[in-house]
This record gives sequence, C-alpha cells and structure tokens, in this order.
Amino acid sequence: MDFNKIKEMGLEYAEKGKNAALDLAEKGRTQAKIVNAQGKLYKAQRQLGALVYSLAKGNEENQPLVDKYIEMIANIEQELADLKASLEPDAIIETTFEEKDEADDDVTEDAPAAPAEEKPEADEAKTCPQCGAPISDDALFCNKCGAQL
Ligand SMILES: [Zn+2]
Repeated sequence: MDFNKIKEMGLEYAEKGKNAALDLAEKGRTQAKIVNAQGKLYKAQRQLGALVYSLAKGNEENQPLVDKYIEMIANIEQELADLKASLEPDAIIETTFEEKDEADDDVTEDAPAAPAEEKPEADEAKTCPQCGAPISDDALFCNKCGAQL
C-alpha cells in the first residue's frame, strides 16, 4: 500500500519533469521563431528604407510598392507580438542584440554611402523572375512590377 503510494508519487514527478522539459523545448522553438521573425523584420525595414530613399532621390513615387512593404512589416510585427505573447516575459532571452546592432550598422553604412555605386554589381547578379528587371540582392519585392520575390 505504501509502495503503491510511492510509485504514484514517482510517476507524478516523472510526469512533471517531462512536461517541464517539453515546455522548455517549446520555448526554445518559439525563441528561434522570434529571432527569425526579427531578422525578417529588419530586412523588410531596411528594404523599405532603401526603396523610399531611391524613390525620393529619383523624385518618383511608388505608393503600391511602399504599401506592400508596410503591409509585410505589419504582418511580421504581428507575428512577433504573437510569438512574444506566447512566452512569459522572463523567458524572453536577449538573443537579438547582436543582430540588431548588425542591422543598425548596415543602415548607417548604406544610407550615407552612395547606393547607386554599389547597386550595379548586385543588379547583374539577380533579376525579377516576373519582368526581368534588375533587383537588389535582398529585395523582397520587384521595384518595377511589384512581384513578391
Ligand atoms: Zn518585376
């Protein structure tokens, strides 16, 4: 009788331990998704910045394309918010600092430098599958036809 009680307790704790491990694994996956989504977000924001910059520079407008980027960024932000909400606040590890600094560096380096001069190389490397227009290496949409890349 005592033995059964001990066995029961043992099983109970084993089950608890298992659930805690699963919980941790789940959080790890969620954090990986957060890092991934943050990477996508920075990329989309960088692309939007580059697009707005090049449009302003050429005194052009392409609101539909700008809207596509804004919509994509909003979607990623929503995804991030959902992912973060699924974690307890204390479980969010600061994995993104390095990547954030990197992204910031890119922006500060790209913007003041002459982007027109570094584009041609990338342009030759990649073209839009829809319309064949040259596109920058990590563009998310074709600047010409707006196709998602
Ligand atoms: Zn295109």
